[in-house]
Amino acid sequence: MTEKIIPIADIRYASRVPHVPAQIQTPTGLLADTLGRPLRDLRISVTDRCNFRCSYCMPREVFDKDYAFLPQSSLLSFEEIARLARIFVTNGVEKIRLTGGEPLLRKNLEVLIEMLAKIKTPSGQALDITLTTNASLLAKKAQSLKDAGLQRVTVSLDGLDDAVFRRMNDVDFPVADVLKGIEAAQRVGLAPIKVNMVVKRGTNDAEILPMARHFRNSGVVLRFIEYMDVGATNGWRMDEVLPSAQVIERLQAEFPMLAVNPNYAGETAERWRYADGGGEVGVISSVTHAFCGDCNRARLSTEGKLFLCLFASQGQDLRALLRGDFSDEQIGGAVGHIWQSRADRYSEMRAALPADASPPETGRRVEMSYIGG
Ligand code: SAM
Ligand code: SF4
Ligand code: SF4
Repeated sequence: MTEKIIPIADIRYASRVPHVPAQIQTPTGLLADTLGRPLRDLRISVTDRCNFRCSYCMPREVFDKDYAFLPQSSLLSFEEIARLARIFVTNGVEKIRLTGGEPLLRKNLEVLIEMLAKIKTPSGQALDITLTTNASLLAKKAQSLKDAGLQRVTVSLDGLDDAVFRRMNDVDFPVADVLKGIEAAQRVGLAPIKVNMVVKRGTNDAEILPMARHFRNSGVVLRFIEYMDVGATNGWRMDEVLPSAQVIERLQAEFPMLAVNPNYAGETAERWRYADGGGEVGVISSVTHAFCGDCNRARLSTEGKLFLCLFASQGQDLRALLRGDFSDEQIGGAVGHIWQSRADRYSEMRAALPADASPPETGRRVEMSYIGG
């Protein structure tokens, strides 16, 4: 008898088909979860594939040539994504971020952006549409993305030292090409541009000051992200996290910095500005300063599963409803019901534990490359 091998993918896809309430309430856009948090931000992963192998996200030992990425047939079509986006907007979503994997690898992404750009909130406002990218294809695509209706981009870049960056993306991709992507985005007006740097102590923390010097006075908002224990494959260790407070200390040693008030409730980054007017930086302290209390984000995987937390292990299979015989109102009712039942607050729970305790048990967590950042 041959042994049955269950690939990781089977676990990754854990989901349930959501309950469709018999009585549908008219959406008011004022949904609140069990902790009183509204639904405002939808992150849509358009592919689970990537041309980088950042060690903190898609380590190449796991995401190798045998890794079972999603087959084309299981991905949501652009029409399905736009339909869900409209349904989420009636339930309160005002901001959509396209992510992945690497979103610019999804063919004809501009067509999806055009569809999303036509959606209006119930009060007639345009959506805030943005995209997070490794910028490997940004120089080529910036203009067509802008023309399609994208407003701005966030670029991930973990350092300016070419050897450090090539090692971190693990596909030998040069810094210069990411910088060309950022320049192209600036040229076409995909602004304000944010640059995300994941800081791993001992790997790229020496890049903090060079990155700050480079992006000062450029109009780009640099954001330092604490290395997070997302997924189950990156071998995360607390001693590789550099707390944001230390990032700010290192910046302060060279540039006087002043704290800035948040732009809006639920903003993930804590804002700082250079006292001399050189611009703004942000720190995202997912590990040392949990911000679950304001978390208004939902995440949609490439195959239409809805996750309510970055650290969730199970999604809700909205694709089953899309491809079943359900109206927009019924699917909206199911989404409303899911959000109203939400109680996720992983980072806060972990922060409440002693430093040497094991993290809260949530089952096998989904990968960041699958549900997007
Ligand atoms: N490929 C695109 C990119 O890198 O910008 C979009 C997807 S990526 C999953 C989204 C964001 O998640 C990136 O800014 C990345 O740096 C961040 N990220 C991935 N793994 C992380 C981790 N373990 N800790 C903190 N941030 C992480
Ligand atoms: Fe790819 Fe982005 Fe993950 Fe890096 S962080 S491996 S670029 S999805
Ligand atoms: Fe939101 Fe979950 Fe992150 Fe808390 S841990 S901020 S609930 S995604």
